Amino acid sequence: MPDYSTQATEQIRFPETEYKKHPTLKMRALQWMGKKTVKVNEVSRPQITEPTDVIVKVTTSTICGSDLHLYFGEFSGMHQGDILGHEAVGIVDEVGANIKNVKKGDRVVVSAVISCGQCEYCERKEFSLCDMTNPSKEMEKMYGHRTAALFGYSHLTGGYAGGQSEYVRVPLGDQNLLVVENANLKDDLLILLADVACTGFHATECADVHFNDKVVIFGAGPVGLMAAMWSFYRGAQHVVLIDGEEYRLEKARQVFGNLNELGGMKKADVELWKGKSKNILESDLQSLSLSSPFTSGSESTEKKIESKQENIPSECFSGSKAFEQEIPKHVQFHTINFHDWASVDGGVVKAVQSLIPGGPDVCLDAVGFRFERGFLHTIERSLGLETDTPQILNDCIICCKKGGRLGIVGDYLNRCNDFAVGPLMEKGLNWKGGQVFVQRYWKDLLRVFETNQLNIDPTFIITHQVPLSQADKAYDMFANYKDGSIKVLLKPGMDTINL
Ligand SMILES: [Zn+2]
Ligand SMILES: [Zn+2]
Repeated sequence: MPDYSTQATEQIRFPETEYKKHPTLKMRALQWMGKKTVKVNEVSRPQITEPTDVIVKVTTSTICGSDLHLYFGEFSGMHQGDILGHEAVGIVDEVGANIKNVKKGDRVVVSAVISCGQCEYCERKEFSLCDMTNPSKEMEKMYGHRTAALFGYSHLTGGYAGGQSEYVRVPLGDQNLLVVENANLKDDLLILLADVACTGFHATECADVHFNDKVVIFGAGPVGLMAAMWSFYRGAQHVVLIDGEEYRLEKARQVFGNLNELGGMKKADVELWKGKSKNILESDLQSLSLSSPFTSGSESTEKKIESKQENIPSECFSGSKAFEQEIPKHVQFHTINFHDWASVDGGVVKAVQSLIPGGPDVCLDAVGFRFERGFLHTIERSLGLETDTPQILNDCIICCKKGGRLGIVGDYLNRCNDFAVGPLMEKGLNWKGGQVFVQRYWKDLLRVFETNQLNIDPTFIITHQVPLSQADKAYDMFANYKDGSIKVLLKPGMDTINL
């Protein structure tokens, strides 16, 4: 296979990034108009633009914490009029000529990540590293490579229109949609599979959270809360959640505070994950019959099957210990409000040490690049001396026990100063992060939900349902932590409410 990974945008035919506009039909969509300005406008409806496209009529979308990077104008590559949103559930309205797995009327979850399913990264199920969906030369210059495209997430990740709209065009629909047959599952639950449930899981997968681990999670937003849920599911003994918003920590205490009475997070079904790699391999071989404009066509199917078998690790889920062992008999859950520790020497690190002497096995970052504390990084960022603050990463590195594991799923954009590189290296820490591999996890996590394997309802993070027509107000509420907001759903069909 040719090496598409570096300075190679010229060699690839990417899907059209802009959708073909319907000549007459219109829809409502949330557009980015500039820093802190989003507006619901009437725009042209998308049409099938490539034969591998699917048009989805959105029934539920939602605002993600990472949409706020765009909202606050702190992310590169935004153009006025961009349609935002990378988490959506809906009904298939139209399919392109080459679509095989999806048909009109199907109920689907739309993956936040747009992947091709064919490149070497997709073959390894590292879907957010896909080589063939994001043509951004700017990213290639900045990172040396291009990561996968995302819906509604700036031109740095492709510039594809997002799902905070009445209709969304899904490129490579066979690969990027999950068909849901169980009509009993509500949109509120399914929408979590588009991103946050998978991203929370990805954090625990990156850090291989398993039996008896002590886990510290920075950030009690939707992803941090999901990461706490999956940590307990995978057998963590002690989880500490850190945030600066007391209402979010309070919610977490309500949910995770009485796990011992419930017998832990997991309803003792360890069977699901046994033989996981075999199942994944089988479904993979079936998918080889799909046609794609990006397949070279020269390789025989047999040869491809052989190469696929070699590429797939024997354990697709690294944390096999997480699933095959029983859950701890007694678990602990604590929260830390970092404001309470602001004036204490050592701050949050001190607070963690008081709860976990010796340090946690795992630290997860569900916060990211733009939450600085104190003046130094505020000034440096405003002067353009750095784009990102390293403070959460530094806290993770200093808190974590020697030889521990870091899972970094909070977003980072580019460069920072004052990074604790020495402690990272000298403590022998294992670092893994990145954008979520949605298509790798969503079927399994759907099955966890469907078979009722959790002792809590994951939709506890959803605090608001707002009509799409009032999405601008919803952004203001969510961005400014108003009205106890944690996860705000946007409903295209809903009547106006008081906000
Ligand atoms: Zn998201
Ligand atoms: Zn790919």
